[in-house]
Amino acid sequence: MKQYDAVVIGAGPGGYEAALELADSGLKVLLVDRNKERIGGTCLNEGCITSKSYLQSAQYLSKASFFSDCGVMMDVKGLDIKRLREKTIALKDEIRSGVLWLLEQAGVETLYGLASFVDANTIEVSNEKIGFGKCIIATGSQVRELPHLPLDKTKIISSKEVFELEELPASIIIVGGGPIGCEFATFFNAIGVEVTQLVRGEQLLSSEDEDVSKALLRAFKKRNIKVMTSAIVQKAEVDEKGVRLLVEAEMQEQSLQSDLVLCATGRTPYVEGLFPEKAGVELDEKGFIKVNAAFQTAQKHIYAIGDCIDTYAFAHTAYAEAKIATRNIISGKASTNTHITPSTTFTDPAIASCGLKEKEAAAQGRAIEVKKAVYKVNAKAKILGDDSGFAKIIVCGDSGVILGASIIGMDATEIIHEMVIAIEKKITANELKEMIHAHPTVSEIIRYL
Ligand SMILES: Cc1cc2nc3c(=O)[nH]c(=O)nc-3n(C[C@H](O)[C@H](O)[C@H](O)COP(=O)(O)OP(=O)(O)OC[C@H]3O[C@@H](n4cnc5c(N)ncnc54)[C@H](O)[C@@H]3O)c2cc1C
Repeated sequence: MKQYDAVVIGAGPGGYEAALELADSGLKVLLVDRNKERIGGTCLNEGCITSKSYLQSAQYLSKASFFSDCGVMMDVKGLDIKRLREKTIALKDEIRSGVLWLLEQAGVETLYGLASFVDANTIEVSNEKIGFGKCIIATGSQVRELPHLPLDKTKIISSKEVFELEELPASIIIVGGGPIGCEFATFFNAIGVEVTQLVRGEQLLSSEDEDVSKALLRAFKKRNIKVMTSAIVQKAEVDEKGVRLLVEAEMQEQSLQSDLVLCATGRTPYVEGLFPEKAGVELDEKGFIKVNAAFQTAQKHIYAIGDCIDTYAFAHTAYAEAKIATRNIISGKASTNTHITPSTTFTDPAIASCGLKEKEAAAQGRAIEVKKAVYKVNAKAKILGDDSGFAKIIVCGDSGVILGASIIGMDATEIIHEMVIAIEKKITANELKEMIHAHPTVSEIIRYL
């Protein structure tokens, strides 16, 4: 039986980052995923990279009329989804090759097949037993299906099948008001598809503050995206024309028809075929792998990170957890993740937030001050063609230290990192404002906070 110092299960951002870090410190490491194409995980294959490649093309298209305002005359005919698909596949191949090169350089061994636990020190992959000293589980997540909306993967699809479309629908109903649903609403609307978005709760992006969510709703309405709140799907019927949904929205039953339905109702942890119980690894009531703050499972030498545990489901969270878990393995210490995590939604306008939200401060009865600046004052945003939105910071009422930030508008997903530093380093609002921001830049919005 082959024996490794460490085995990492799952080659998404969490898994490959962990394997690289472990190998870097001289350990003999094996990284396992289902097949070679899965290197990069959900993030590369049907998540972050894929969706942002699609959104970028949509953004170019929505800018077409602005280009002529800028004197750039072009004959834009629309989106060729087949070309975009090919371009995205090539992009994924290039990134995957880069990751494989890094793994090879670091001396990480790879093995393809589904890994299952045999016991607390052994896994099995394609009938081969492999022993390990330490293990990191990074098996990620899968699409959550609704009982009344079974996926047929042709007319009722998940985010994964969007990237396989070779023809554009005339209309789409997107079920889900979270980041994935909102990003796809942005994408399909920008490429000329009629979009209806069904939101179970009362606002888009329920984890964001109400003013941020309302600003997104206004932007969506302006672009004719129809958003229905408090909407629950009761029944779905597929026929030759498309899909008919029976929906209860705002206490009324409605029948909606569209060519395609996209189910974007979140994701659940993926542990199918892993048999964690054989290793003594426990799951919580939602199916997440139970870990302590140092990412150790019930078996202290087996760690779990990324989407398969109950922390933020972002690729950058998986990277961060990989770093901390591997450092713990190497040093024998039990450090935890004390970093501020930015949340990003690549809608148009883009949204990003970090730290304390205004609504959380209110719920805690915490004395805060909210400072807000609108993009209307920002010259670069005007040059770039969109001065909508705002940035706000949540400041401690006593010390003036920045506790949280939310931004909706141009480059929000870039500017947020300045806020992450400010919060982590306990900078006050005045100190941040006084830092010199180059002119003209979108980041200058901070001067007005
Ligand atoms: C449409 C969409 C858009 C997204 N956009 C963003 C974004 O913009 N920014 C962001 O930060 N996050 C985004 N995410 C979330 C991000 O993709 C995940 O948070 C991230 O991929 C989690 O990384 P991970 O390493 O935990 O797991 P994954 O990336 O899911 O990788 C897990 C891997 O484990 C493998 N595996 C599972 N079980 C086994 C087994 N038993 N044996 C062998 N291998 C196994 C799987 O094949 C898979 O490759 C998006 C997700 C989706 C779906």
